[in-house]
Amino acid sequence: MSKIKMLCLLLLLLCIPQTSWASSTNSSQVKLSDVRFFVHTDAISGEKKLRVVIDVTGPVQASASLNSGPAPNLTVDVSGASPGPLAGQISLDGNIATDISILSTGEASSRLILHLPQSIDDSAYRLFTLPANKAANRPFRIVIDINQTISQATFHFTPGLRGKVIAIDPGHGGTDSGAIGPDGIMEKTVTLDVALKVKQLLEQAGATVYMSRVTDRDVYAPNDDAIPELAARAAVGNKNKADVFVDIHANSFVNPSVGGTATYYYPKTDYDKLLAQNIQDQVVAINGLTDRGVREANFYVLKHTLMPAFLIEMAFISNPNEEKLLTSPQFQQKMAQGIVNGLDAFFTQAAQLGGNTDASQN
Ligand SMILES: [Zn+2]
Repeated sequence: MSKIKMLCLLLLLLCIPQTSWASSTNSSQVKLSDVRFFVHTDAISGEKKLRVVIDVTGPVQASASLNSGPAPNLTVDVSGASPGPLAGQISLDGNIATDISILSTGEASSRLILHLPQSIDDSAYRLFTLPANKAANRPFRIVIDINQTISQATFHFTPGLRGKVIAIDPGHGGTDSGAIGPDGIMEKTVTLDVALKVKQLLEQAGATVYMSRVTDRDVYAPNDDAIPELAARAAVGNKNKADVFVDIHANSFVNPSVGGTATYYYPKTDYDKLLAQNIQDQVVAINGLTDRGVREANFYVLKHTLMPAFLIEMAFISNPNEEKLLTSPQFQQKMAQGIVNGLDAFFTQAAQLGGNTDASQN
């Protein structure tokens, strides 16, 4: 025991002065040395992301906090490095983040304040560090990713369907049949039937329509994973700068007596719920099925489209009566007309909402 204690004491005497000397010297020398940024557009989804990379001459720790309010910003505190040559303000892309202010908060600590044109939520950014890679001649790095957020100010809807750009996604397709009814009817078939009828009605009304598919096929690739497939569908809206995104599906449940129509939305803009409500109201007014209401849902396409979007579950393909209805051209035409009436009603209301918002700001 006493020998071990002696050994410990010796080690302490040997180590303490050296380590404290070494760490204080190193941290006072560590500096932020370079900053660069670029905007990356996801090839599949069309979504944009700003990446800010800060080179550091040694390892540091970084933590982030979001601040909303009149001047929204993302603040990153760096412990273990001074701002060095980066002290001051540096312009960023201007859309996702305006600029970055870098200041000293102590002998070996810095604060990076990224000013944002609008507040974002916790899921919209990511902060991480990368160790130095001598082989690749890369220093220690702090990386900040911020996803593009939707500016509510960009939505200025006008009444009417003429001149509108509408993206339509007939659910499933190709190797993905979707739900299958008791009589063997596949969801992918009826979603396409109705979508093509919606397309025809909208084009007759003077709108431009982009379809994720017009035949029985996978949109991204056969037997692909869900995310690239869904991202490819959202991209049809994003790349074509659609005014609204329409997703058409049929529901399914273990109990075959369950039936009805429901419309889903994700509240990413001021208009998503309004859109879903108008669609649901107009569709159930025509199709005569149980009104299962408007529901909030975290569905990929609803969340990753940059415009108001809805997903309609037209009817239950698992319900024998509704399965028959879904294959009937008359019912399909009613569904299509209900969706188009809902879009028309939405644009009228959204135009009024936009006008009111502008007036209240003046
Ligand atoms: Zn489906």
